[in-house]
Amino acid sequence: MTAKATNKTGKKAVAKRPAAAQPARKAVAPSAAKAPAARGPLAPERVAAILKTLDETYPDAECALHYRSPWELLVATILSAQCTDARVNMVTPELFRRFPAPAELATAPIGEIEDLIRTTGFFHNKAKSIQGAAKKVAEDFGGKVPQTLAELITIPGAARKTANVVLGVAFGKAEGVVVDTHVFRVSRRLELAKADTPQEVERELMRVVPRDHWIAFSHQLIYHGRQVCVARSPRCRMCSLETLCNSKDKTWYS
Ligand code: SF4
Repeated sequence: MTAKATNKTGKKAVAKRPAAAQPARKAVAPSAAKAPAARGPLAPERVAAILKTLDETYPDAECALHYRSPWELLVATILSAQCTDARVNMVTPELFRRFPAPAELATAPIGEIEDLIRTTGFFHNKAKSIQGAAKKVAEDFGGKVPQTLAELITIPGAARKTANVVLGVAFGKAEGVVVDTHVFRVSRRLELAKADTPQEVERELMRVVPRDHWIAFSHQLIYHGRQVCVARSPRCRMCSLETLCNSKDKTWYS
């Protein structure tokens, strides 16, 4: 997923020079002075400062996959594995034009599905997954995508991350935190989590981030990870979280 948010870049904090008449004192960058690092990375005020900055930087962050229903979002999310959202958005209009409902996709020739989604990569497995999902939704859920995590993860191709996307984006339900490769990397760099698996990082984030932020937080971190906190050579100089970040990967310090 991506967000449509405008990326406001952070500015290098500039220490103010004391006035000549005032006693000399050590210059401190204003934003750094607000960073409450003294109480550790999970100090509530530090977490709140990160969330506030993310809200300010990415106020309109949202899913960039195109969909018209929970079913279409479910399929698009399955197809987005190891693939860009933009690429998925190129193939789904024709896929849903040919097979609009789960019952139709469930009985479609598998070769035809593969041809329609080929450019998203791993198309043999993805075709099997979305046809399996279509059968499950059509036969066990009356053609409607279920609205609980427990039910969603019984659908072929829909593991916990996909289930969280569908619940959060299509139904506005925060049952977990979406942890994709960007959320995984950025939340560890920001020391909001330190585990080595997405499942455990999600559990850590659910403890640290207030529930009413779970949905937006994921979108914001995905956007931040794609635009600024990229995997190699993060663009710390333009990062609005820079004064709150102590990552060893930092490429620039204010
Ligand atoms: S300062 Fe650098 S490493 Fe830290 S969150 Fe920003 S871009 Fe990522």
